[in-house]
Parts: sequence; structure tokens; C-alpha cells
Amino acid sequence: MRNDDLATYETWDMTAPVVPPRSRLFNLSPVGFGTSLVECLTSYLSRVAQAHSVTPGALHHHELMKHGACRRNMFGCGVDARTRSSTSGINATGGVAADFVSAIGKLTARNDLRYLTMIPWKSLFPSPLLMRGVAAWCPVCLTSWEQAGKPVYVPLLWTLEVVKFCPYHRHPLRLTCPHCSLPQPLLGQCSWVGFCTRCRRWLGSDSGKDDPQRYSVLHQESPDWEIWAASQVGDLIKAAFHNPPLLTREQLSQLIRAGTDLEGPSSFARILGVSATSVGKWRMGAKHPMLPVYLRLARVFNVTLADLLTGRVSPDQVHSPDLAGVPRWRNLWARRRWPFDKLKIARQMEQALKELPPPSITTFQNRNGYHYSTIHKYFPDQCRAIQERFQEYRAASIQKAHAAKIAEFRQIAYQLHEQGTELFVNRVLTRMSVPKSLEHRIACELLAEIKREILANGRPGGGSPATVT
Ligand SMILES: [Zn+2]
Ligand SMILES: [Zn+2]
Repeated sequence: MRNDDLATYETWDMTAPVVPPRSRLFNLSPVGFGTSLVECLTSYLSRVAQAHSVTPGALHHHELMKHGACRRNMFGCGVDARTRSSTSGINATGGVAADFVSAIGKLTARNDLRYLTMIPWKSLFPSPLLMRGVAAWCPVCLTSWEQAGKPVYVPLLWTLEVVKFCPYHRHPLRLTCPHCSLPQPLLGQCSWVGFCTRCRRWLGSDSGKDDPQRYSVLHQESPDWEIWAASQVGDLIKAAFHNPPLLTREQLSQLIRAGTDLEGPSSFARILGVSATSVGKWRMGAKHPMLPVYLRLARVFNVTLADLLTGRVSPDQVHSPDLAGVPRWRNLWARRRWPFDKLKIARQMEQALKELPPPSITTFQNRNGYHYSTIHKYFPDQCRAIQERFQEYRAASIQKAHAAKIAEFRQIAYQLHEQGTELFVNRVLTRMSVPKSLEHRIACELLAEIKREILANGRPGGGSPATVT
């Protein structure tokens, strides 16, 4: 071929293209990223599972746990107002949220999943009254997304205890299924976002009576206040995307000092609906208030919540509050917390340590209604003892059951041999009281041993010759 002919063909670029690193799971974009309605991490987890046609339970068990996500049961259905399920921790500020952000982030190659949780505000919020233990949703939002063909998801906004209304539809959030009236966990083991984990029906309907008070730990105030509060929290969630500086304890202390100087400590505490002791602690910079109190402070100081929590409010801006527009707030907690009776728990643990068969620590917790972290914090040694006792008992039970199966297998094998039936592993296994309940490998070894015994007995001087294979 001449050089002139070659010139008519285009030249090929043989350098290998740069291929970005692949992620194990789909690199799904979180819904509403950068807005006040950004998706929460539990909803993202559920949608990633759906995109792979697996259940959230399977995704957690087979993928997330291997990458350091919490090993505890994240799919408990036993939710009520007092249960702060560990699942709500996935969207919160602590270690569970950090573990899930890291595990899901590694698998989807996303490094922005912290914005799907409250981690950006970690240093500001103590955990009480921050997250809901149960799911809440706006039926109007769900239906409008579904009808518009948009993804159905759960915004981070709805997972916060302080948010009682949808600020866009001015509609109260629902806390119970419109069909079966049961509350919903934040993650369904085998169900998708928008559907009841119990009756599997669509949650977007607003029929049937809701019972939000029963499943809330925070009082619901007037709709006007709740809608204002929800919009403020929405703006705060949106502000997190700009990584703003956070309100320091010194700044908070100065603001509280300005408030108490104007109104007097007791009067200022009364306006906020909290105790004078709490106000004293914030004034000293000893601790941070909870999210509902920050909202009350923002209202009293007549500033936005986002400005307050990003340190953009100076003490000079604090003037005598216009109390005419300030609602009269009730005590924060809707339900009285159970008194913590340390002696009673110690007595119950002592009894559990004598009980036969020994209960597991989970059985003990569920039976007496205690939370995992509470008893592990105050009674670590007793918890360990209960766990060890249960594990020893379980190991012994397993061994006993195994020995019984071996004895049964032997007995069946000898019976068959006496009947003149040829001995095969499956022939013996299928005749067991629970067919094939002995592992096949063990059964093979055992049958070989039995055959050797029969052969030994069948030698001259032994029993009658055996029919073996
Ligand atoms: Zn809505
Ligand atoms: Zn239902």
C-alpha cells in the first residue's frame, strides 16, 4: 500500500481513556441536595436499595455492615414516643450517623452524604428532642411527588422532633398509617419509602384519624408557631450546605446575658418556658440548649434561627423582646419521663442472673422496657454477666442438640442395617425426626465411622457380616 492511500484514513488515538474510579453501588444523587428539603440518609439508603432491587435490610446486612455501619437491628417496628430508636441516629449527629455516612459514602463514592444528616450542626445540638424515633410525613407532598413522577423520599426536615407541620402545604405531618393506624419506623426492612411497613399500603392518603400526640415527645403549639418553626428549621438545613461558622458557647453566653440583663433571669426563663437553672447554665457557657429552645430564643430575639446558630447575631441587636407576638410556651416535654430507679433495675438484673433458662440482654431490655444505652451506661458489669451467661447456655444447648442428632442418626443407621437395607447418607438423613437436620459433611463422616464399626463387628469372632457400601 502506498503512503498516499494511507493519508486518506483517519489516524486512531491509541492512548487509553481515563476512567474515573467505579463505585460498588450506584452513585445516586440525593433528592433536593442544596435545598431545605434535602433527603435524609435513611431515605437515601432505602432508595439505593430500591435502585439495586434489593431490600434495605439486605443492603444493610450484606454491604453496609461490612463497611463499618452499625451492627444493631435498624429495622425494629416497636416504635412509640419514648423509643429513641437507633435508626433515628442515622440522620442525627453522633457516631451512628458518622458510620453510615462513611459506609454508604464508600460504596457509592459520594463524599457529601453528611449533609443528609444533622452532622454539620454537631457541636450545637444535644441529642434530646433532636430526632424523632418514628417516621413523620406530609401526605400532600408524597402524593404530589408521586403524581408528578418525581422520586418519593423523606426530607431530613421531617425527621426532626421539632417539625410538626409541612411549611409548604401548611399541613400537619402524619405519624400513623391512614389504613392500619400504626406508627412507622424510619427504615422498613422490606418496604420502600412512602409505603406502610406493616400493611404495605400507600402513606400519601390523609384518611383516617392520626394520633400525633401519642407518638411525640414534644408538645405541639399553635399552627402559626409550628409553620414558622418548620420554615426556620428548613432554612437552617439549607444553610448547612455553605459550611457556615457555628455559634460558639461564648457568643451564646453573651446573647443570654443580654437577654437576662433586659428581663431579669427568672422572667427571661419564664418567657422561654424553661427553668432558671437552664438559663444560668447557658449564660455560663456550660452547655448548649436543645433545638426547640434555640427556636424560642430566635423568636424572642426576633432573628432567624439560621442567623442565630451561625453566630451572626450580636448582643447589640438584642433589644427588649416584643412579647405581644411571643406565644406562651408550655413545658418542653409532652410526656413525663420515667423516673430512673437504679435500685429497681439492679434488683431486676440480679434476678435475671439467677433465672433459668438465662435470658439474653435483649430479652431483659424488652421485657422491662429499658433502653440499650441506659443500662449499659449504669450497669456495664451486670450486662456483660447476663450476656456471658446467655452465650454459655446457648453454646451448651447447641452442643446438646447436636449430640442428640448424632445419637438419632446412629440409631437409624443401625436399624436400617439390621433390616438389611443398604446404608446411604441421604437414606438415613431423610428418616430423622427433622429430616436432614444434620450437616451433610458431618453425616458422611459419621456414616463412614458406623460402617467401620459394623465391619469390625462382622469379622470372624464378631457379629454377623454386614451389608455395607
Ligand atoms: Zn407538604
Ligand atoms: Zn399501614
